[in-house]
Amino acid sequence: MIFLITNLAATSRFLNLNLSYISDIIVPIFSYYLKEVIFMELWFSEFQSKNIKFSLKVNKVLSIEKSEYQTIAVYENEDMGRILALDNVIQLTTKDEFTYHEMIAHVPMFTHNAPEKVLIIGGGDGGTLREVLKHPVKHAHLVDIDRKVIETSKKFFPYISYSFEDPRVKVFIEDGIEFVKKNSGYDVIIIDSTDPIGPAVNLFSRDFYKDVFNALNKDGIMVAQTESPFLYADVIKRIYDDISSIYPYTNIYTSVVPTYPGAFWTFSMGSKMVDPLKKDITQTLDIETKYYTKSMHKACLDIPPFLKDMLSK
Ligand code: SAM
Repeated sequence: MIFLITNLAATSRFLNLNLSYISDIIVPIFSYYLKEVIFMELWFSEFQSKNIKFSLKVNKVLSIEKSEYQTIAVYENEDMGRILALDNVIQLTTKDEFTYHEMIAHVPMFTHNAPEKVLIIGGGDGGTLREVLKHPVKHAHLVDIDRKVIETSKKFFPYISYSFEDPRVKVFIEDGIEFVKKNSGYDVIIIDSTDPIGPAVNLFSRDFYKDVFNALNKDGIMVAQTESPFLYADVIKRIYDDISSIYPYTNIYTSVVPTYPGAFWTFSMGSKMVDPLKKDITQTLDIETKYYTKSMHKACLDIPPFLKDMLSK
C-alpha cells in the first residue's frame, strides 16, 4: 500500500499534477495508522464518573479471572507498578497503595486507647491487615466475600499480602453484612470495601453501620473508606449523616490516593467513647510507615472548609 501511494505521488510529479497532498498528508496519516496496528498499545481505562475516564498503559496482563462475585484483573504499568482491578475499578497499585492502607488503619488504631481485637471487612488484598499488624493486637479477623481476591493477592502482590501468614490472623470467607450481625467484641472495625456497587452496596447503609456499632466494644471505633468529595459529595454526606445518627463522635479525615477517582480520598470514622479530636497521640507507639505520621494524624482530621461546608448542609 505504501508502495502504491509512493508510486502515485511519483507519477503525479512526472505528469506535473499537483497531488502533493498525497505525500504531505495521506502518507503520514497512513503510516501513523499502520504503526498503531503493528505496535498496538494496550490501555486499561476506568470510568471514574460518567464524564471522567482514567487510563493507564498496560505493559503486561498478568491475570484476568472471573470469580463468583467479580472480574479480578492484575496488570502492570511502567509508572504505577502492578495494578489490582475488580470489575474494572482500581483497588490498588503497588506505587501508591500505602497512602490508603496506612491511613485507613493507623488513624482509628491510634485513636483507640489499646486495640486488641480488630475486624477488617473486605480488604482481601491484605494491605490494611499488614498495617493493623504493626500494632500489638492479639486478634486480627478479616472477612472478605471473595476467596479469589485473597488468592490473587497472595500470588501477585506478596509485599501486600504477606500478613495473611501471621498467627494472629483469622480469615472468614463470607458476606461482611451477615458476619457483623452474629459476631462482636471488637475494639476497631475497618470497612475496606469495594465501592458502593455490586456486593458492597449494603456496606454503605445505615443498618450496616448500626450492626457494626453493636459488634464493637463499649469504647469501639469504626472507619469506612468513603470516596472523594470532588466526585461523590452526596455519598459522603449521606454516610456522614448516617454515622452521626448512631455514634457519639463522627469524623471525616482525608488522604491522597493518586489512582483513585478524585485522588483526594475520605474516610469516615465513628467512635463510641473517645473523641478523635481530643485524643493525645504524642505518646503512641513508633511504627514504620511511608505516609502516616503523628502530625499527619492531627492534620488529616482538620478537614478543609469546603468539606466542612458540604457536611453542614
Ligand atoms: N481499597 C480498596 C478500594 O477502596 O478500592 C478496597 C480493596 S479490597 C480488595 C475490597 C474487598 O471488598 C474485595 O476483596 C471484595 O471482595 C470485598 N467485598 C465486597 N463486598 C463485600 C461484602 N459484602 N462482604 C465482604 N467483603 C466484600
